[in-house]
Amino acid sequence: MPFDYDLFVIGGGSGGVRAARVAAFEVGARVGLAEEDRYGGTCVIRGCVPKKLMVFASDVAHFLPEAEGYGWTFSEAKFDWTVFHQKLTQELDRLEAIYRGLLKRAGVHTFDSRAKIVEEHTVELSNGERITAQTILVAVGGTPTLPKIEGIDHAITSNEMFHFDRLPESILIVGGGYIASEFSGIMNGLGVKTTQYYRGEQVLRGFDNEARDLVAGEMVKRGVDLRCGLNVEKIEKTPNGLLVTDTNGATQVYDAVMYATGRSANTKNLIDPAVDVDLGAKGEIIVDEYSQTKVPSIYALGDVTDRVNLTPVAIHEAMAFIATVFRGQPTPVDHALIPTAIFTQPEMGTLGLSEEEARAQGPIEVYVSNFRPMRQFFAGSDDKSLLKLVVCANSRKVLGCHIVVPQAGEMIQLLGIAIKLGATKEDFDRTMAVHPTIAEELVTMREPTRKT
Ligand code: NDP
Repeated sequence: MPFDYDLFVIGGGSGGVRAARVAAFEVGARVGLAEEDRYGGTCVIRGCVPKKLMVFASDVAHFLPEAEGYGWTFSEAKFDWTVFHQKLTQELDRLEAIYRGLLKRAGVHTFDSRAKIVEEHTVELSNGERITAQTILVAVGGTPTLPKIEGIDHAITSNEMFHFDRLPESILIVGGGYIASEFSGIMNGLGVKTTQYYRGEQVLRGFDNEARDLVAGEMVKRGVDLRCGLNVEKIEKTPNGLLVTDTNGATQVYDAVMYATGRSANTKNLIDPAVDVDLGAKGEIIVDEYSQTKVPSIYALGDVTDRVNLTPVAIHEAMAFIATVFRGQPTPVDHALIPTAIFTQPEMGTLGLSEEEARAQGPIEVYVSNFRPMRQFFAGSDDKSLLKLVVCANSRKVLGCHIVVPQAGEMIQLLGIAIKLGATKEDFDRTMAVHPTIAEELVTMREPTRKT
C-alpha cells in the first residue's frame, strides 16, 4: 500500500521546518508536518530570537553612559517593560506567521497536533488519526530540566522569561551555562536586581578560561551579583516573595527564581516502545552521522539528538538529511569547528579549541590582545576586551579563537570561514589590517603571549 506521505516531520522548529520545506518545495516530495505548539520552535518562540531582542533592550543601559561620555545629555532614561513586551509579542506572532506561510507555500500539509510514532512508518495524531510515511523525521527539540529540590515548583525557566506581566524587582538565576549567564546580563541591564548562583568555580564551563574569567568579571562590574560555588537548597513561597535557602544555609528573598540548569530531549511518550529507536541516558535519540536511527525509516535531528544544540546546526543537519534521503547524496554532518556566540554582556565569540584543550593535545602558541576599545575608552568606560588565537606550534594552524568584544558574534562568524578553511597564523599575519577597528588586533599580534 502506498504511504500517505514521502516524509512526515514531527516538530515545527528550525530543523523540522527546514527539512519539510526543502523536501516539498525543492525535491517535490509529499510532506506532512505536525507541531503541537507554536511554529518556529525554541529558537524563534522561546529562545534565540526573543532572547536577542531582550539583549538589545537591556544593552541600552550600557550605551547611555557611553553616550554621555561623548557629550550627550538625557533628561530621564526609563525602560517600560509593557511597551517592549507588547512589541516582542507582535514580533513573535509575525515570525510564527512567516514560518506557517513558508510551509504552506512549499506545499507542506501541517497538523496542529502532537504526533507519536507508533510503527516504523506510522505516526498517530492526538485525535487518534494515523498517518503513514516512507520516512519519518523527528525534530522535536528539547525542554529545560530542573533539579528535584524542595520548592522547585516556584521556579521558572527560560520559557517563562518572555512572559512577565511586569518585570520582577529582584531575580535569582541558577546555573552557569549559556542561558543562565545570558539572562543575568539581560535582567541586570533592564534594571532588575540580579543574583546568579553557579555551583562550580566559574561560569561557562567548557569555554576558554581566560575568556570566561573576563566575561564573569565584566558581568560583576556591570552589577550582576555572581556567586560561584553556591547552589539552592530549597525555595519557599512567602508573602514577601520567594525565600531561597542556599547551600551555605543563608536565606534571601527574591521576586522570581529562574533555573537554567540544562535541557533534555523532548522524547517522553514520543515513540512507542515497540518501535526499536535507541535513546541515550538523557532521553536523546541516538543517530548515526546521517541522522538515521536504528530503524531505517526513522531519522532525527536538532536538539532531540543532543549532538551540538544550536539552531544553525539543526538547519545544517536538515540540509544533510535532505541530500542523503531525497537527493541520493549520502551527506554526513560536519560538526567540527562551529563558531558560536554567547550573548552575555559583554558578548563572547568562540570557535575551536580552548587554550586548555589545545595544550593537552600538543605544543601551542597563544596570542592574546587585552585592551580597552577606543570607543569605550574615550567615553570613560573601563570595559575590557579580549582577542585570542590559539595556534598549533607545528602546523601553524589556528586551532581556536576566543573573543570578548562588542559584536563578538558578528566577528566570530567571519573568522569561522578562515579558520574552517585551515588558516595559519601566517595567513592572519599577511592579511592587511582594517584601521581603526577592534578586529585589526587579530592580524597584528606579532609575538606569542605564551608558548607551551
Ligand atoms: P548548559 O548545559 O550549558 O548549562 C547548565 C548549567 O546548569 C551548568 O552551569 C551546570 O553546572 C548547571 N547545573 C546543572 N545541574 C544543576 C543543578 N542540579 N544545580 C545547579 N546547577 C546545575 O545548559 P543551558 O540550559 O545554559 O543551555 C542549554 C543549551 O542551549 C546549550 O548547551 C546551548 O547549546 C544552547 N544555547 C545556546 C545559546 C547560544 O548559542 N547563544 C544560548 C542559549 C542556549 P555545571 O557546569 O557544574 O555542570
